[in-house]
Amino acid sequence: MAAAQMKPIVIIGTGLAGYTVAREFRKLDQETQLVMLSADDAGYYSKPMLSNALAQGKTPDALLLSSAEQMASQLRADIHAYAAVSSIDPETQRIRFNGAEVEYQHLVLALGADPFRLPLQGDAAESVLSVNDRADYARFRSAIEGKDRIVILGGGLIGCEFANDLAASGYQVSVIDIGTHPLGRLVPEEIGMVMRDTLATIGIDWYLGLSVAQVDHATDGIRVTLSNGITLEADAVLSAIGLRPRIALATAAGLTVNRGIVTDQYLTTSSARISALGDCAEVSGLVLPFVMPLMQAARSLAKTLSGNPTPVHYPAMPVVVKTPACPLVISPPAANAEGTWHIETSGAGTQALFSGVDGALLGYALTGTATAHKQRLTKDLPVVLA
Ligand SMILES: Cc1cc2nc3c(=O)[nH]c(=O)nc-3n(C[C@H](O)[C@H](O)[C@H](O)COP(=O)(O)OP(=O)(O)OC[C@H]3O[C@@H](n4cnc5c(N)ncnc54)[C@H](O)[C@@H]3O)c2cc1C
Repeated sequence: MAAAQMKPIVIIGTGLAGYTVAREFRKLDQETQLVMLSADDAGYYSKPMLSNALAQGKTPDALLLSSAEQMASQLRADIHAYAAVSSIDPETQRIRFNGAEVEYQHLVLALGADPFRLPLQGDAAESVLSVNDRADYARFRSAIEGKDRIVILGGGLIGCEFANDLAASGYQVSVIDIGTHPLGRLVPEEIGMVMRDTLATIGIDWYLGLSVAQVDHATDGIRVTLSNGITLEADAVLSAIGLRPRIALATAAGLTVNRGIVTDQYLTTSSARISALGDCAEVSGLVLPFVMPLMQAARSLAKTLSGNPTPVHYPAMPVVVKTPACPLVISPPAANAEGTWHIETSGAGTQALFSGVDGALLGYALTGTATAHKQRLTKDLPVVLA
């Protein structure tokens, strides 16, 4: 065997993207050496569970589906936990981590995204938490153990999910969002208001159209001062204002980056032997930080890695929002889509359909009983990437 062929395929990242591409690849190729590196403990878990684990009484350990050792044996991969990669050299096809070096025949970047941090004023700004992995969830649980009052910054998908989960677990929850309704531009105002009013019935207080001026320590916890001067007393503050693709490693390696690590439809970056997928990637201009797109990408990339170059196609990929108090499923129209929302409320359901200038359905948001129309409507939606 030629030396180049003996080098392993290396995957950086053991989130859903990294592990799914490894699993799909092993279905097609049982021989090629696979090396996986992770900055965390490399345990396999389902990240979406983080925002509905509390009400189900799930501890951080209970979220772990398989340990790094179990994954290594399932995938016949060499898995390195706590191995934060510090640099990539596309010229020599080497990466560095913990003072060691690995050569690759092909490198897959499945690096995920970092929670966006607001530059907050005040002496408690550093104590604002975010939950983006199991270790964060463990920290968050211990911070709120035996406490009552939680302030959430951001009323987007993840903010609403945590708000519902915390309120269902007996916490007193306040959500602050700069927009006039929750869920921002993902849904029309009417649907955002349904979410606001329904979550209010389970005790969630909303502070909309406002930002945070200051976060300070107080005698009994944390004081959050809003832009209108109102102050909220809290035991913990959770930030859920969005994620930023992890591009630093790729940038330093000279790869093309934009919002995410830029790839073509084959998930290939500007370096022919490096691919990217999942939350870190910008695939054919699309940054889609959700599970369904990364599953599609992982299946295509596995084929490509096993010698059968395969472009990724995205069908319509609705997202089920995990707010049991207010069932909601959304398939937002493309950012540049022209058209109008049509809203219909019937009984305990509201259906919002976004149609283009030619009348074609381009997106939807369905709450309550209207979520039953998900399958039928999804069939009429255009594909996201042909
Ligand atoms: C609270 C929450 C709820 C969600 N709910 C939903 C939902 O209901 N439906 C849905 O579709 N999506 C949901 N999402 C989004 C979905 O979970 C993500 O799109 C998906 O998990 C991203 O997987 P990933 O593998 O790309 O990234 P990650 O899971 O973040 O994995 C990144 C990996 O890269 C590693 N890494 C990073 N940098 C380095 C480095 N330098 N060296 C070595 N390793 C490194 C990390 O250690 C980690 O192993 C949710 C997200 C959150 C945060």
